Amino acid sequence: MAESVHLNRRGLLFVLSSPSGAGKTTISRKMLAADRDIALSISATTRPMRPGEVDGKDYHFVDVPTFKQMVADGEFLEWAHVFGHRYGTPRAPVEKMLEAGNDVLFDIDWQGAQQLYQEAGPDVVRVFILPPSMAELERRLRARNTDSDEVITARMERAANEISHWDGYDYVLVNDDVEGCFEQVMAILRAERMKRRRQVGLIGFARDLIRSVPDADTKL
Ligand code: 5GP
Repeated sequence: MAESVHLNRRGLLFVLSSPSGAGKTTISRKMLAADRDIALSISATTRPMRPGEVDGKDYHFVDVPTFKQMVADGEFLEWAHVFGHRYGTPRAPVEKMLEAGNDVLFDIDWQGAQQLYQEAGPDVVRVFILPPSMAELERRLRARNTDSDEVITARMERAANEISHWDGYDYVLVNDDVEGCFEQVMAILRAERMKRRRQVGLIGFARDLIRSVPDADTKL
């Protein structure tokens, strides 16, 4: 049997954005469970912890002065105000994950996607997930049973605002079926990994293939 070939490639920064309720959290969890080569970037935030959340796992929960100090110290790859709180992507863990040969998954909003793209353009893949309809989004938000009517109305307004930035993304998917949408996201990840410019190991590999045929290079 032929020996399997492993070529080095550049890690990529995979951004998943969507309005809350469109299924982004479920899809990102499924991605992390299905693929060992992608790891999650854990953001820092000044928003209060919600029940069930774990510091260091869901977010690094910090107070405003700490967050401001981190900004001043250049510790963030990107940061933004989202719904009245500050959210940011710590730079060091991302660099570590990329150095370790991992891809990095980001659950960040459109402002974060834009800043990350400005910072690391060619290594960034931006995916936006849309709900099948606003009625379905509202149904999903209500099914969580955690929010008052007032909060749901505010979330629907934020969702419409988030959706208005759909055209800042490389891929836009409609999540009418979680399994199908997850498969599409994985197809994007696999194809993006295969892009020639990410496969830095190809240069030497292709050169060696050509050189292994005597005299072939003199006739090209
Ligand atoms: P939540 O408070 O519901 O966890 O998140 C609110 C919004 O903030 C979501 O759209 C989420 O994607 C976004 N968000 C979370 N972390 C970051 C971050 O580090 N940077 C940016 N720009 N947005 C973030």
